[in-house]
Amino acid sequence: MFKAILIEKDDAGYRAGLSELDASALPEGDVTVKVAYSTLNYKDGLAITGKGPVVRKFPMVPGIDLVGTVEESTHADVKIGDTVILNGWGVGENHWGGLAQFARLKGEWLVPLPPAFTPRQAMAIGTAGYTAMLCVMALERHGVTPDRGEVLVTGANGGVGSVAIALLARLGYTVVASTGRPQEAEFLKTLGAAEIIDRATLSEPGKPLARERWAGAVDTVGSHTLANVCAGMRYRGTVAACGLAQGMDLPATVAPFILRGVTLAGIDSVMAPREERLEAWSRLARDLDPAKLDIITSEIGLGDVVDTARRLIDGQVRGRIVVDVN
Ligand code: NDP
Repeated sequence: MFKAILIEKDDAGYRAGLSELDASALPEGDVTVKVAYSTLNYKDGLAITGKGPVVRKFPMVPGIDLVGTVEESTHADVKIGDTVILNGWGVGENHWGGLAQFARLKGEWLVPLPPAFTPRQAMAIGTAGYTAMLCVMALERHGVTPDRGEVLVTGANGGVGSVAIALLARLGYTVVASTGRPQEAEFLKTLGAAEIIDRATLSEPGKPLARERWAGAVDTVGSHTLANVCAGMRYRGTVAACGLAQGMDLPATVAPFILRGVTLAGIDSVMAPREERLEAWSRLARDLDPAKLDIITSEIGLGDVVDTARRLIDGQVRGRIVVDVN
């Protein structure tokens, strides 16, 4: 038997809670992992609260991230005793996930824990931090260098936002943080933000083009915010768009793209190819200051997951949550 968060949906409704499960119930897979830590991302919050259509099969163990030790393996490249990380691949959506003491997975989904990180640090990064790195890599690919000008990060106090600020500041960019929580300005400045702006300046319907300000942007918010970010990009700037905290819509015009040569770079962490994941994790090992990671991380146990997921979806959680599943 092992402990897990279980989401059920039936005539009695949609509900999530701590359960004891039998190991024989674990899904198909060629690797069994004894999980050490998982995390809570926005998507886990949507799954646990039922606020978004994340879970595709019921009952489901949520958790899109995990780190742990391999207990059984028939996969050629994964050995018993290896410490491995899993991010995405639909785990926690259509395959039982990381908010549990055990998981059974496909070996091809796993990446080795980089030697630079402890298992807990890997989950402090989690999908949010790995996605922040994918966003930074996309800006770099499109020629956004620190000398080009200011870079904007929206949803600054969230998991993706806070890691993106720490990474970009460390790489020498001038980072402007957009937030609805001005009371967290000192925290954002400690991470490396040079200036804080109120997210209300971006969240309402705006003009097709605004003053050219941003050389690059990491947007975790979508909707009117992303439209306004595009409108405020400098000539040939790039926006890495990864999130929808304000909304899934994009009420924008083509003006920034056809008049200013702006690039909208879409970022998906879930199905990103293995080579890009390995590159992102090795860049995180090089470019993320572990001291910054410590200040954005808080830890909870499995018993706190459901309440914390509600607070996360209400925008009350700062930075990253690590879940000690044992
Ligand atoms: P968090 O909940 O940690 O952060 C989201 C942040 O967005 C909040 O802290 C808040 O920041 C801001 N926010 C919340 N609600 C609103 C709103 N209504 N309007 C404007 N801003 C708002 O989530 P994550 O960092 O884990 O994820 C951020 C987004 O990125 C999510 O939409 C998630 O689904 C997406 N994502 C996508 C991935 C991909 O592969 N494409 C991978 C990982 C995440 P503040 O208080 O500072 O304003």
